[in-house]
Amino acid sequence: MPRLLRFLTSHRLEDMVEVPLTDLPLLIDGTNAAAVEPDRLAVAGKLVLCRCGDKCVLLLPPSSDALVNGSPVPAGIRVLAHLDSIDVNGASWRFSAEDPPQIVPFLAGTSPDVCPRCRQRIAPGAAAVRCACGNWFHQTAELPCFDYAAACPVCQRATELGTPVPFDPED
Ligand SMILES: [Zn+2]
Ligand SMILES: [Zn+2]
Repeated sequence: MPRLLRFLTSHRLEDMVEVPLTDLPLLIDGTNAAAVEPDRLAVAGKLVLCRCGDKCVLLLPPSSDALVNGSPVPAGIRVLAHLDSIDVNGASWRFSAEDPPQIVPFLAGTSPDVCPRCRQRIAPGAAAVRCACGNWFHQTAELPCFDYAAACPVCQRATELGTPVPFDPED
């Protein structure tokens, strides 16, 4: 499920607030983001984030000085992409379209079933992690293939388990 993350006093993960995006529109006023029923959406001056199928669309009021990735949004509407940042009223939000990697039992019949790290097949029921790129890795005490290195060998995404988003304050 896509999520919206707000960084408080720093860009450190422990200072982060996470807002899951449900089917309800989300009002963002800088310090807060709250889901509202569609018939109560007529709140002037706030950003609205709506899910539209598998996309998330940010709607900005005409007077908004909110920035997406550091730039104004000319038409007042933007389909958010993974790791877009939203700055509004001094608060910084970041959009994540991806779930954090988790250790789960590998399901029989899942494809691909070859771990890109060790090139061995993953047995059904074995503890495994699926990277956002779709590849599966062993993740056991004997074969810690997923977090063996800092990045996925296929897509270079960070391999920290439970890290909500690969986040680099310098980017
Ligand atoms: Zn492996
Ligand atoms: Zn990957």
